[in-house]
Amino acid sequence: MDPVRTAELLSIGTELTVGETRDTNAGDLARDLTNRGVVVGRISALPDDLEAVTAAFAEALGRAELVVSTGGLGPTPDDLTREAIAALTGEMPTVDPELEVWLRDLFERRSLPFPETNRKQAWLIPSATAIPNENGTAPGWYVERPDGRIVVALPGPPREMRPMWDGWVLPRLAERGLGRPITSVTLRLTGIGESAIAARLGSLLDAGSRPMVATYARADAVDIRIWAHDETAEPGSASGTGSAAEGVAAVERRIVDMLGDHVWARGETSWPAALAAALDARGWRLAAVEVGLRGALLALLGEGLADRLAFGETLVARPEPHDGHRVTLEHLAARVRELGPAEVGIAVEARERGGDTAVTVAVVTPDGTHRETRVVFLGGSLGRGRAAIAAAAILLARLR
Ligand code: ATP
Repeated sequence: MDPVRTAELLSIGTELTVGETRDTNAGDLARDLTNRGVVVGRISALPDDLEAVTAAFAEALGRAELVVSTGGLGPTPDDLTREAIAALTGEMPTVDPELEVWLRDLFERRSLPFPETNRKQAWLIPSATAIPNENGTAPGWYVERPDGRIVVALPGPPREMRPMWDGWVLPRLAERGLGRPITSVTLRLTGIGESAIAARLGSLLDAGSRPMVATYARADAVDIRIWAHDETAEPGSASGTGSAAEGVAAVERRIVDMLGDHVWARGETSWPAALAAALDARGWRLAAVEVGLRGALLALLGEGLADRLAFGETLVARPEPHDGHRVTLEHLAARVRELGPAEVGIAVEARERGGDTAVTVAVVTPDGTHRETRVVFLGGSLGRGRAAIAAAAILLARLR
């Protein structure tokens, strides 16, 4: 049987469509499936409405080989996922004796009476296999359709859904054949906007190009992802032969040639992780003081740097002149370096300037002192967050 290559996700529950609960499940599942080379064609949120949910399953199965739903497996009448799948398959749900024993036991163990409404959580249809739930009362369903398509129903609470997905469903799907191996690389950029990156990448971003290249603006970076399915002679491939890894590496080299000055990390690296690695490479520790950032810099460096951060201080304003002399950021950086004590001292000051935020950074290392000012987009807490990232970028450049 061919591996599953396409999927759709259904997030079921009126709480989602009225905006009371944020749908995190579908995003988590989509990421996992995409990383395995499964194309997720659509994500839908649906109210607790039997007709709507049944129709959504039928439509999704018309397009995709795998449909995964979360939510609607509770005991109450508005939990309708089982009914919808039963309607779709034309099968009659019956109480599964084994599941019922397990369910009743859960209540007995807590000396609670068994509510008859919960019996429907022991339902199965002939084509469904129960997916054990170790963190709740709602088992999932794994349904194989006669045409080889698959329906997976999982409960809504992420702490129930996740372990069932990771521990039971993914291994099962992997056995059945899931996705295509994928080679991917992510480059993390700073100091350049997504549109400027897009302008430089030009046709590399075209929908049909192989390997595929896409940009993602995140809070801490603009990411460029380069990826290809591990398959020789993919239909429509310009390169014809040659492995995916070679194609990805070649495009990565081209992009680094164009934008290398802005690339600060590869993969899922965070700012604290990149700084920690750079500090460790030199055997150095850091001391930091921020002025007017309301904690943004220390929050960014925070736990990620662990004991490499020897000293950290937040000031609302720059200290008053000392003996008639202005206290410069270089003084502050040198001072915290002594206080650390640390090999590296950094002082960062942010000021709002015409709706944007100007950030000045002084870094003192055994190699010398560096001072730099940048203006980052927007003011307020967004501007302060960006100012902290600009400071981290300036610091990283001094450490490497
Ligand atoms: P259970 O019987 O264990 O509650 P269920 O399948 O009936 O399972 P729901 O009643 O649909 O689950 O949702 C229960 C809770 O799970 C919600 O209140 C919400 O906190 C969380 N939840 C549901 N769907 C999602 C989702 N798509 N993303 C994130 N959280 C969700």
